[in-house]
Amino acid sequence: MKTCGIDNCSKPVKARDLCSMHHQRLMRHGDPHTVMPRRTKKMVDCSWTNCTSQAVSKGFCVKHYYINRVLQKNC
Ligand SMILES: [Zn+2]
Ligand SMILES: [Zn+2]
Repeated sequence: MKTCGIDNCSKPVKARDLCSMHHQRLMRHGDPHTVMPRRTKKMVDCSWTNCTSQAVSKGFCVKHYYINRVLQKNC
């Protein structure tokens, strides 16, 4: 019996030399090797204007969180 053409996959072929799972991935992503993206922690950009760093606290990156705190203290 033929098995899936993907390395380390020994499931029976369903179509185009691929098992049903890998064939579905080929149909869905155009590439049978594509693995569904894992749920990662939500990435948020810094809310500072023109800053694309990753926000770590209160919507600001490390640098701008610090600056924002200093600015608020002075107000
Ligand atoms: Zn497979
Ligand atoms: Zn920033």
